[in-house]
Amino acid sequence: MTDQNYSFFDSVIKSFDKAAKFTNWDPGILEQIKVCNSVYKMKFPVRIGDNIEVIEAYRVQHSHHKTPCKGGIRFSMEVNQDEVMALAALMTYKCAIVNVPFGGAKGGIKIDPKQYSVFDLEKITRRYTSELVKKNFIGPGTDVPAPDYGTGEREMAWILDTYVAMHPGEVDAAGCVTGKPVSQGGVRGRKEATGLGVFYGIREVCNMPEIMQKLALTTGVADKTVVVQGLGNVGYHSAKFFREAGAKVVAIAEWEGAIYSKEGLHEEEVFQHRKKTGSILHFPGAENLVMTNDALELPCDILIPAALENVINGHNAPRIKAKIIGEAANGPLTPEADIILGNKKVLVVPDMYLNAGGVTVSYFEWLKNLSHVRYGRLGKRFSENMNKHILGTIEDLTGKKVNEAEKKFIEHGADEIDLVHSGLEETMITATREIMDIWLSNPAIPDMRTAAYILAINKVATSYAELGIFP
Ligand code: GLU
Repeated sequence: MTDQNYSFFDSVIKSFDKAAKFTNWDPGILEQIKVCNSVYKMKFPVRIGDNIEVIEAYRVQHSHHKTPCKGGIRFSMEVNQDEVMALAALMTYKCAIVNVPFGGAKGGIKIDPKQYSVFDLEKITRRYTSELVKKNFIGPGTDVPAPDYGTGEREMAWILDTYVAMHPGEVDAAGCVTGKPVSQGGVRGRKEATGLGVFYGIREVCNMPEIMQKLALTTGVADKTVVVQGLGNVGYHSAKFFREAGAKVVAIAEWEGAIYSKEGLHEEEVFQHRKKTGSILHFPGAENLVMTNDALELPCDILIPAALENVINGHNAPRIKAKIIGEAANGPLTPEADIILGNKKVLVVPDMYLNAGGVTVSYFEWLKNLSHVRYGRLGKRFSENMNKHILGTIEDLTGKKVNEAEKKFIEHGADEIDLVHSGLEETMITATREIMDIWLSNPAIPDMRTAAYILAINKVATSYAELGIFP
């Protein structure tokens, strides 16, 4: 089976329509959910060295059923209107599934960031932000960007600074963008959030005996073999949390090649090796796979594509040997791959819920910005004093003492990072169970992606229906 030339947005629509058949919503409401509400395509000039370059960029707001709209900004040469529209739509569904009260949006600048100096990247980012400000496409109550492929804390700090300069005195201005450095109003735990969410989601699936039985796997993530594609922020942290939970990361792939080790790889050591040598290849004790995509076809329990879209397609899907695919990236499977893997009974845990950890913690960051107080500041000391008191009373009453390590653990009051991680864990567990409940409730629902879409459609449609439509 080979892939047709299809649009990413069309494939999102296809998945949506497939799921919508299992609902009873008014066709008008379904149509309103599907379409992109606002598409802003811009071109602006930036002086790069002696030349003036015309930069192409986008911001798409897919849905306003809840505001602000939310979604990352990517820097990549692959950026085009269709892609940004598809990714914005996925954000709407993603937010709905994890109960984050935002509409979906996405932005993109069509550049290869590696070709620009930091100075030029700052100019481009600031100019893009001022274009968004001019059209009211950014603000704590309208549209809140975040990091995505090719962007990170540094770019978010530039966006914030540009926005603040154009909105002096706006008390909630820090909430105009998330994924900021902690010193600029960011929240602890945002960086690892997507990878940690991927781990929590897959762990919950692996803890479901009826699902694991169907895959002929034991329950739990310990001892599972994992292949990760992409050693960027999401891939790195996914690998880290799986390894820490006792799974074996047997292969890691990057664009220049992949490495394999039966004994398991340590993501930080691989990362340092790549930083030092400029390549993931020739990592001591590991085997090289020069064709990076070969890593996707290795036998393993869990495959985590954490790079770009369409990496598993009609061409390589028949050769995939993983039992579970955790879509850490957005859209890593083409619709053809989805069908092939469905027939092979591979469990595909879909992107728009599995990689929702990033936006979930972005929501926590936004709440922090609006409340102007760090998580844990009010309660931490109180809990610690109370825990000490309770433990002391128990020790007095029983005449026994707990050891120092245990004492420290029991007395500890929650810090910001503890609360963010626990909020994320709760979010991912609840979402996994809600999707599974839908999937298992009707044998006609073909896969987990369709179940996730049904959940998203029900939530967004309920919101539209209860919001009321203008006569
Ligand atoms: N870019 C991330 C995503 O695709 C995060 C978005 C956000 O935090 O708003 O989900």
